[in-house]
Amino acid sequence: APAIGVLALQGDVREHVRALEAAGARATTVRRPAELAAVDALVIPGGESTTMWKLAEAFELLEPLRLRVKEGMPAYGSCAGMIMLADRIEGGIEGQRTIGGIDMTVRRNAFGRQVDSFEADIDFAGRGPLRAVFIRAPWVESVGEDVEVLARVPFGGRAQADSGPFDDGRIVAVRQGPLLATAFHPELTGDGRVHSYFVEMVREL
Ligand code: GLN
Repeated sequence: APAIGVLALQGDVREHVRALEAAGARATTVRRPAELAAVDALVIPGGESTTMWKLAEAFELLEPLRLRVKEGMPAYGSCAGMIMLADRIEGGIEGQRTIGGIDMTVRRNAFGRQVDSFEADIDFAGRGPLRAVFIRAPWVESVGEDVEVLARVPFGGRAQADSGPFDDGRIVAVRQGPLLATAFHPELTGDGRVHSYFVEMVREL
């Protein structure tokens, strides 16, 4: 079984460890460069991307993370983790940096205050309806041509009644090569399909 780390600086680490094990991976937590070096792939959990960024710098993990991703390590980021995998962010705080790797612009806290959190049924990677939980989630504002869109949520969540140019919905799941990102939290629903999709990706790469 592939060894998949969960970045354990901050956020909902344990839920991802459980979901990865249920999907047939060996899951470990990653806080130090040596732990990062020992895994085949990495999950970056939801939480708070500004805190995660600061802790990654404090733990001297940001550069090693950027390097592993550049070298092709498979990684999956959920919510704050999606922000961490974005090449560009909007609505970040002063100086906020990411690991990067996915050619996309992600907008933090995009769904707005009235709907800090909501659930929606989405079609993930053509695998049928999946209940998705969004918690102060980002959305993907734009993607480069090498990025595959795996899911959208209609009308940018319930808040945006007038969807403007986004009639097909806001992008909430993407893949670029070995990198996967979702704006929602599959580790909270007990539906293992997104983690299984990632574990399959890791096995294939
Ligand atoms: N709003 C958070 C951020 O900007 C993400 C929220 C989450 O991960 N549930 O990092």
